[in-house]
Amino acid sequence: MSERMLKFVSIDQRMPEKRGAEQRARDFAEIYDEFAHDRAEEQASRCSQCGVPFCSVHCPLGNNIPDWLRLTAEGRLQEAYEISQATNTFPEICGRICPQDRLCEGNCVIEPGFESVTIGAVEKYLTDTAWEKGWVQPIPVGKDKGQSVGIIGAGPAGLAAADVLRRRGYDVHIYDRYDRAGGLMVYGIPNFKLEKDVVERRNRQLVDAGVHFHLNFDVGTDATMAELRQKHDAVLIATGVYKARDLTVPGVGLPGVHAALDYLIASNRKGFGDAVPAFDDGTLDADGKHVVVIGGGDTAMDCVRTAVRQGAKSVKCLYRRDRANMPGSMREVRHAEEEGVEFVWLSAPQAVLGDDKVTGVRAIRMRLGAPDASGRQSPQPIDDSVYTLDADLVISALGFEPEDLPTLFGEPDLPVTRWGTVKASFRTLMTDLDGVFAAGDIVRGASLVVWAIRDGRDAAESMHKYLKSKASQPAVLAAAS
Ligand code: FAD
Ligand code: SF4
Ligand code: SF4
Repeated sequence: MSERMLKFVSIDQRMPEKRGAEQRARDFAEIYDEFAHDRAEEQASRCSQCGVPFCSVHCPLGNNIPDWLRLTAEGRLQEAYEISQATNTFPEICGRICPQDRLCEGNCVIEPGFESVTIGAVEKYLTDTAWEKGWVQPIPVGKDKGQSVGIIGAGPAGLAAADVLRRRGYDVHIYDRYDRAGGLMVYGIPNFKLEKDVVERRNRQLVDAGVHFHLNFDVGTDATMAELRQKHDAVLIATGVYKARDLTVPGVGLPGVHAALDYLIASNRKGFGDAVPAFDDGTLDADGKHVVVIGGGDTAMDCVRTAVRQGAKSVKCLYRRDRANMPGSMREVRHAEEEGVEFVWLSAPQAVLGDDKVTGVRAIRMRLGAPDASGRQSPQPIDDSVYTLDADLVISALGFEPEDLPTLFGEPDLPVTRWGTVKASFRTLMTDLDGVFAAGDIVRGASLVVWAIRDGRDAAESMHKYLKSKASQPAVLAAAS
């Protein structure tokens, strides 16, 4: 083993510098600075080059982490980058926004008592450096196959699939109902986690490689699924999940109560400099308001931290379980607390209060009871523990569900699960409709960017096999099928 490795005993874990909470709460820029060059090498050298690298096993992309850490520690950055990009379509994005504490780093088996290797930060550093130094090559387009694919949805699943399919020489068309490509990476995730030019330069690469983007194109309104199937040799559904789970307490209809994604989309659009009437008239702007966000997931964390940056008077996060049992990443909770967010654990909303607009939230304190069927302790209300929080803006962040795609797409035979997610073969990601595949959140339910990338890449390989076999069928058979 290289003598540069195994330094975890002598070198402590160090993340890139985080900007001070007061400073970062005043803008939407990313909160971490870049690693200094020697710091990335030093941190990579902490890896002990495990025989069975659990970091890789728990990375959804199976990234070859020990190899690129070793090459980084040896100062061979371009080679390290080449290895890291071989398995990941967007390594600099994953390095920024994967919940590493639950994936690669959470499973780093450096000796007990030592903190994990900062894998995500090194991955980001490598690819940012590659862009800076011109090592990121244009997408090599394969020999024209004479077949076309239609991809519904320009989120990470759709974009990752487009990348693989274009390399293989297919004519790739992506349809998206939004005016910009990127899905939730552009309109859901705030700038302070992922600056948008990082996504846009990836979109440009696909455009330069000849991928056709049909933006402002809503499948269901502008075309049916049958029409897309007619037009393309194979279709990929990568539409994500967007229907907000409803808050069902009295008063939710009052002005001042909004769904998390409406709020975040407005804020992200402002970041692009768009005119957003519902923000510009103050409706979706937290400036000067008492804000209560209901929910304990990563979307709720993004809302509270956005509200802080917009200049809210106070920001509270109401969650019915406790800190240890919240679904959001602990790292995000720490960032939010540093930035001045107050967490109101073990509290559930009972009603939104106000006459002609929101003035408060009535909440009740909870305790955790016996575990339910899912194994999680179920929250139960404590008698006589009702109290009121002031609020001018209430944001509901209770998760997302799929739209009714068979109806929307005019395709009653599209198979869906009882949760509304699209049913696709575990092995091939093809649905029961011949040549129609599905990937990302619309199959898994609300998940992560890294899983969407993985699914998009897998679906593309599977579509390639399908298209190859379709192309090799004699014309007569093809016409008869
Ligand atoms: P999406 O990204 O949702 O993209 C789907 C695309 O399909 C969209 O562009 C949409 O406009 C388009 N579309 C939908 N229906 C149609 C139609 N009928 N016609 C045409 N186009 C259509 N994950 C992380 O890993 N880290 C994070 O920090 C993180 N933070 C998040 C924060 C928020 C607020 C949210 C909501 C999610 C976050 N996620 C995060 C989850 C992550 O963004 C998603 O898991 C991922 O984007 C799913 O990718 P996808 O390609 O399946 O779908
Ligand atoms: Fe870790 Fe995500 Fe990178 Fe995999 S893709 S190594 S999980 S940061
Ligand atoms: Fe290195 Fe940790 Fe992965 Fe082991 S688990 S190879 S120490 S990063």
